[in-house]
Amino acid sequence: MVVVGAGPTGLMLAGDLAEAGVVVTVLERRADESNVTRAFAVHARTMEELEIRGLAGELARTGTPIRALRLFDRVQIDLSRCPVSTDHC
Ligand SMILES: Cc1cc2nc3c(=O)[nH]c(=O)nc-3n(C[C@H](O)[C@H](O)[C@H](O)COP(=O)(O)OP(=O)(O)OC[C@H]3O[C@@H](n4cnc5c(N)ncnc54)[C@H](O)[C@@H]3O)c2cc1C
Repeated sequence: MVVVGAGPTGLMLAGDLAEAGVVVTVLERRADESNVTRAFAVHARTMEELEIRGLAGELARTGTPIRALRLFDRVQIDLSRCPVSTDHC
């Protein structure tokens, strides 16, 4: 099977297929430019998907928890009461 695109979607799909025993080839058009994620934050839904695959725990342990977030210099979000785990806030 061929997966086109080695972004988060393609890599997750390829990983799931490989886990299911399917031989997968991932094609990525960017040869020189870095394909490292642009993300600075991993959202709850992403953590849920990683948790299903047994991958969230290590990320939660090695990541840097964000205690507060300020958006556009106007909105302040207090995340300090969210547990530092894969549990829901
Ligand atoms: C500046 C910025 C900051 C962001 N920050 C966050 C964040 O903090 N947290 C978060 O969760 N999300 C963040 N995002 C969103 C996140 O990057 C996207 O949701 C995610 O990259 C989408 O993954 P994708 O695999 O669907 O697409 P993409 O990441 O775009 O990957 C698609 C890949 O397919 C390749 N491709 C496309 N067409 C072809 C083709 N014909 N042949 C071969 N290869 C092809 C592309 O080169 C690319 O590598 C951010 C996005 C941006 C732009």
